[in-house]
Amino acid sequence: MAPFRVIIVGGSIAGLALANMLEQYEIDYVLLEKYPTIAPQVGAGFAIQPNGARILQQLGCYKPLEAANEPVNSLSNVSFDGSLRMYEPEFGRWQEESHGSKMRFMDRRKVIETLFENLRDKSKILTSREVIKLFSHSDGVEIETGDGTVFHGDLVVGADGVHSRVRREIQRIAAEDTGRDLFPEDDAFTCEYRAIFGISKAPEGIVPDQAFKWFGEGRNYLCAPGPNGTLYWIFDMKNEEKTQGKSILRYTENDIEEAVTLYRGDVIKDGVTFGDLFDNRIRASMVPVEEGILKTCFYKRIVLLGDSWHKVGYIAIQSAATLANELKDAIIDEETPSEARLGLALGYYQKARQAKSLAVVEHSHQLQKMEALETPVTKFIQLKLAKYLSPEIMANATCQWYAWAPRLKHLPLSPQSNFLPFADEIKMKPKRRSKIITLLFALFLIIVVFLLYPHLQQKEAIVTYEAKKSLFTRLTGLDKDRSLQLHYNLSITIITAIISIESYRMSLGLSLLGSALPFGIASIFVGWEFVAPAYFALFVFHTGTKSYYYPCPRSIDLAAAQAFVFAYLVNYIPPIVCTFACSTFPSLLWSISHATLPLAIRPLAKWIARRSTGSIRGPAILWGDQDMKYTTRFFSLMSMFSLVGYLFSNPLKGQSGAKLLPLYLLVVQGGSLDPSEVRILLLDLIMMAFLCFIIWDTRRINASNAGLSTILLTISNALLFGPAVALANLWSTRETEWEASRQRQERPIDDKVVIEKA
Ligand SMILES: Cc1cc2nc3c(=O)[nH]c(=O)nc-3n(C[C@H](O)[C@H](O)[C@H](O)COP(=O)(O)OP(=O)(O)OC[C@H]3O[C@@H](n4cnc5c(N)ncnc54)[C@H](O)[C@@H]3O)c2cc1C
Repeated sequence: MAPFRVIIVGGSIAGLALANMLEQYEIDYVLLEKYPTIAPQVGAGFAIQPNGARILQQLGCYKPLEAANEPVNSLSNVSFDGSLRMYEPEFGRWQEESHGSKMRFMDRRKVIETLFENLRDKSKILTSREVIKLFSHSDGVEIETGDGTVFHGDLVVGADGVHSRVRREIQRIAAEDTGRDLFPEDDAFTCEYRAIFGISKAPEGIVPDQAFKWFGEGRNYLCAPGPNGTLYWIFDMKNEEKTQGKSILRYTENDIEEAVTLYRGDVIKDGVTFGDLFDNRIRASMVPVEEGILKTCFYKRIVLLGDSWHKVGYIAIQSAATLANELKDAIIDEETPSEARLGLALGYYQKARQAKSLAVVEHSHQLQKMEALETPVTKFIQLKLAKYLSPEIMANATCQWYAWAPRLKHLPLSPQSNFLPFADEIKMKPKRRSKIITLLFALFLIIVVFLLYPHLQQKEAIVTYEAKKSLFTRLTGLDKDRSLQLHYNLSITIITAIISIESYRMSLGLSLLGSALPFGIASIFVGWEFVAPAYFALFVFHTGTKSYYYPCPRSIDLAAAQAFVFAYLVNYIPPIVCTFACSTFPSLLWSISHATLPLAIRPLAKWIARRSTGSIRGPAILWGDQDMKYTTRFFSLMSMFSLVGYLFSNPLKGQSGAKLLPLYLLVVQGGSLDPSEVRILLLDLIMMAFLCFIIWDTRRINASNAGLSTILLTISNALLFGPAVALANLWSTRETEWEASRQRQERPIDDKVVIEKA
């Protein structure tokens, strides 16, 4: 039987990337390109980012590209009046240390040329073969080219660009077969901007290893370093009207001249004008900026790849990798995959790449609006807020784009030493939590509060005056009221600690959990019986995203982590001392301390950060585990305090053998609870429910192997030593497991780490 054969239409970035992948996966193919030469002298800068770089490294063609181009070392934003809005001198270092490589702009032609040169067997690349017609059969496909040659294969991949002939052919074939239009949204590609892509000798005053963006109303520039003192640049201009499909305009030299005349006075950086840049040009061409993605990308044995499916730059190589992986899997399953098996493979490819491509299309669209200052809001964000973006915030935003990139799973990876491993290199399997689970948990909290709320309405005072006790009495135990109060307040200290720690988690920075203070203030008015469940519900709600556990940093601000122990001691020593030394239980003092913990941490953290400026920033801090020794120490302290406090305050001392407080209160005392006990019961139950939830959630994302036995053990721990102890221990364990599951794993046997060839 003839081997499975792929026909690739189009010899540009997508087509040649796939050709390399198929060659290295030992899948037979032929590539048909309509032009007489591969890599004609057209186009300008093409960006390679870490997500694409990893695949090019696997193919063995990253090093030649790296050697031929300058990396983007720094990034700045300049506004239309020439003022500097943001300058990030270490942009390149951050990217490389975080994701393994710096962003590089390369001549599109050089990328195509390198992909071509990397092929061992170049006889499979056929030029001057314009595909004009496709025929689909149940056991294969045929392609007819302009010169009348017919090629036979098992699968056709249309990597023939935005005006794809293959796309039109699938549409025709599907319509003939089924009578339905496969791409009713064929006009899905829209256009709101036009762009001049250029390459120039860097005018004096521009350092050619820096990238910068310039924002003006209705237009924006991006300049990036090229080889040998050159600059790649893109000048985007807003069109008067949005066009779609066939009505999208093509541009000529006259259009370029017109734009240059109009905008040559734009001062894009340090006195350098657009006119200077243009006059120094080596090449420049104007194209419509098309955007969009089709809902379907395949029919039977024909599939689209790259711009023919999704018109957005820079992701064609990743889509090619997913397609190659799927084809290899299909061939491993069946030597010559049937149409049904191919359908499975192509269906997965479509599903996997569609969401990602759509996100990129939407993101690019929003970014474009922002950079061309389209609305007052985007103007405000770009000109007023963007300058406050720290490298940490930028790294946290960009990691979302890189971390989920595919790799060639049947080829070895080069050794990686970046701080943030890609998603397929780690043990954790982050996924979005079902909204139903989140709602059920929130509902449970509401029901518990609702059931116990009437008991809290009783007017009986929770603080009762106690006669001053002897030292012996104080050391050996407290009366029941004080026991309950101490137990209750110790439980709250761990809740405030968690609220404070989570407020320093970068992924929660812009959420309602980004500051601990509002919860402390709210507790003064409504009590922790309401604030704690509200916080837990919000926590569950905000941590259900895919990115909370990964790739957003787990580590919390290092200076804050260092501040916790001291701030905690300073904050809680007064109420602790007073509990044992004063004649009445210092409820007010405890309440104030719960509310002010964040106020104690923040200034101390700022002071620590100021003292260690320069040495505590960088990807190692953001993605590393330096905070852990401080948070572990903090949780140990919390745990110890809670345990000692619980033993002192054993709330059931003297009660008939009942040790398991919440169960005892619930089952034995039933409805005859006083408000103090209700408070305890409510908080204990809520904390235990939260404990179970967190254990389950950590297992859900494969960060731990904890199961039912761990839940039972933790509940026993909570019942015997108090929920505060159990929660402190759990949070510490969670941090350790979370960190370990984000680390790069050893490769599987068929995927050994080898040094990149070339
Ligand atoms: C001329 C040109 C210049 C570009 N310049 C830039 C740039 O400077 N910067 C940038 O970021 N992006 C540029 N792009 C876009 C960029 O190449 C793509 O966004 C991305 O690389 C995905 O490419 P692709 O391989 O899917 O499609 P394309 O790069 O468009 O390649 C399609 C290939 O298919 C061939 N082809 C088309 N029809 C047929 C047919 N019927 N039979 C056989 N072969 C056919 C074409 O000749 C071409 O080689 C350019 C695209 C083109 C076509």
